[in-house]
Amino acid sequence: MALKVMADDGRQWSLTERIGQGGEGVVYAVDDSPALVAKLVPRPPDPSAYRDRIERLVRRRREPRTVRLLAGAGGGVAWPRVPVTTVRGGVHGYLMGDLRGRYRPMEDLLSESGRRTRLPGSTWETALRAAAGLAALLAAVHAEEYLVGDLKPDNLWVDGHGAVGMADVDSWQFTDGGRVFACRMRTAGYTAPEEVAAPVTAPTRAGDDFVLAVVVHQLLMAGLHPFAGHPGRGERYVSLDDNLAHGRCRLTDHRSVALRGPLPPADLLPGRIAALLRAAFGPAGRGSPGSRPAAAVWAAALGAELADGRLRGCAGNSRHVFTVERPWCPWCDLARRGGEAYPGAPAGAAPDRRASRAARAADTTGRTT
Ligand SMILES: [Zn+2]
Repeated sequence: MALKVMADDGRQWSLTERIGQGGEGVVYAVDDSPALVAKLVPRPPDPSAYRDRIERLVRRRREPRTVRLLAGAGGGVAWPRVPVTTVRGGVHGYLMGDLRGRYRPMEDLLSESGRRTRLPGSTWETALRAAAGLAALLAAVHAEEYLVGDLKPDNLWVDGHGAVGMADVDSWQFTDGGRVFACRMRTAGYTAPEEVAAPVTAPTRAGDDFVLAVVVHQLLMAGLHPFAGHPGRGERYVSLDDNLAHGRCRLTDHRSVALRGPLPPADLLPGRIAALLRAAFGPAGRGSPGSRPAAAVWAAALGAELADGRLRGCAGNSRHVFTVERPWCPWCDLARRGGEAYPGAPAGAAPDRRASRAARAADTTGRTT
């Protein structure tokens, strides 16, 4: 029998297929409402507190700060619209906009298979746009006094032009009526070092800023996590978080980790972006949360890399786009070592229009390999 959910005013919706699961929630398609999906959280630690959180978020959707945030995000934030409860079982959840019509899961831009088959027109420019867009969106979230708390690619969406969407707003941290609704969710590999060390700590902006740097690194390095790798000095590999705790990061100390397989060259990063990543991941950024580059600083720096004349295209592959700071194509270097991060678009696939235009423009001015 179809799962049915009901709003307080008696309206009912039938849920159809299960389209996602993560953390503590399950997302379903909604019958006869293609623009909506329903998220249900079957076993929250405190069901009435969860319901209260959803009701407050739904009400805040009409408040000026949230209105401003959502207007700036251009439909990219799947804000809770209607609190619902299953007709049988009393499981709480909410209806939200369906991001699938416009976006792909961010993982598709981070994996070689996703870039080949699901975002076949994407280039490094798409990834750079996504990084800049994510930073700007996070800066806006912080400006309106919310925290994401559980920022990670699984909660993020991206389109073929690098526009970014965010879901799982029900885990955000906010203050309402003088009460803090803390984010309890943590994800291995996407948690700031001070929160790994003290898991009961409430998230902070600086924690979001740290994870932003992790995702920016992944976007710009074809998916590579900044703390990936086997410990380089004979220690045992435990986890990404253990590497983080010990400062094992290819970018800040290349002897601290051993990584297998062809990797994107570290020098593909524009100088100011590499400097910001080192500020976040080095001893200062790990030890002093307040010293990390803030989301707004990231947004400005990444946005500047998208300015006219900052990107070049490769003569050998229309999907190879890179910074003007690098004398030749890093993606060709990678391909020669057996790793093609941006495989040539299959016949019949439309390349990303804006990215290929930038690549063509850059091609006429830049040196190529
Ligand atoms: Zn190339």
